[in-house]
Amino acid sequence: MNKPEFIKNIITDDLDDKLYLGIDVGSVSTKCTIINERDELLYATWTRNKGSPIISTQENLKYMEKVLPDNIEKRICGVGTTGSARYLIKALIGADIAKPEIIAHAIGASTYTPDVRTILEIGGQDSKVILMKNGIVTDFNMNSVCAAGTGSFLDHQAVRINVPIEEFGDYALRADEEVSIAGRCTVFAESDMISKQQEGYSKESIIKGLCKALVRNYLNNVCKGKKLYPPFVFQGGVAANSGIKNAFEEELGHEVIIHENYYVMGAFGSAILAREHVNGELSSFHGLKISEMDLAPGSFVCPDCANRCTIKYLVRREDKNRVNGREKDDAIFARWNSRCGKYS
Ligand code: SF4
Repeated sequence: MNKPEFIKNIITDDLDDKLYLGIDVGSVSTKCTIINERDELLYATWTRNKGSPIISTQENLKYMEKVLPDNIEKRICGVGTTGSARYLIKALIGADIAKPEIIAHAIGASTYTPDVRTILEIGGQDSKVILMKNGIVTDFNMNSVCAAGTGSFLDHQAVRINVPIEEFGDYALRADEEVSIAGRCTVFAESDMISKQQEGYSKESIIKGLCKALVRNYLNNVCKGKKLYPPFVFQGGVAANSGIKNAFEEELGHEVIIHENYYVMGAFGSAILAREHVNGELSSFHGLKISEMDLAPGSFVCPDCANRCTIKYLVRREDKNRVNGREKDDAIFARWNSRCGKYS
């Protein structure tokens, strides 16, 4: 089993609260959270998903079954999903609601900082900025192609400079001078970093320069001239790096708030959305045993009207070559993505 890299768990047998599960499945990682009715975060995990959202979600459910009390399944009263695989995972686990990451992150951040105006979110492979006013999202932008404003930029340079990424922040804070690194893309940054090393600058100063380069890139490419107002909340995996926090504060001229649960804010927001959506009704959650099914994805284009929806489905793996997804068949576990609801 792929064990989570970050784990928080304060769920005990004697708690009798209703619980709500939120799952955020992205291209790099799967985040799971469980909250109670007061939106207190009781359980959180961050797991590298190694390219398969289905297997990663199933392993996370297996892990919950292993470490949480026996009655946990009965206590989960609502489930929400978010992230790029949100519809697939909603179909897999029978979640009650699937919402885009922008909404889930905004709900998560504004729960802890109700007057937040700007959410700076940087993950391993993507980054986004969300602008808010009075608890409502007014604008947002996501990076789509360039890695230079994401965590993978730092990961790449950490390998090159031979400093573990977890120590980047401490190195940056110890720097007695700042070296300007051309960070517009990872290739330029690498060659610039090599020449700065050859010129004799310390690792600390170069790492501080890399942190500044990432922040400049993010502000130029992701924020693209948008007016950013405080309070600023910084979340996503890169928020663990104190060097980036400092670089943001220097560039923005304001404090940047990082909540202790910064690494699961999308999943946290998704659990809150599930609680609000279910609102006392019965959840459609299939339960933790779904982790034992061997399912494979499939799709077909519906020819029945001009919309030509691409219908996606999950099927038992041993029957994948036998079924075409259009007919009703016991082997088909779930179908989704039809605009008219014909294949829901
Ligand atoms: S699923 Fe419905 S809306 Fe989509 S193409 Fe078929 S008939 Fe049209």
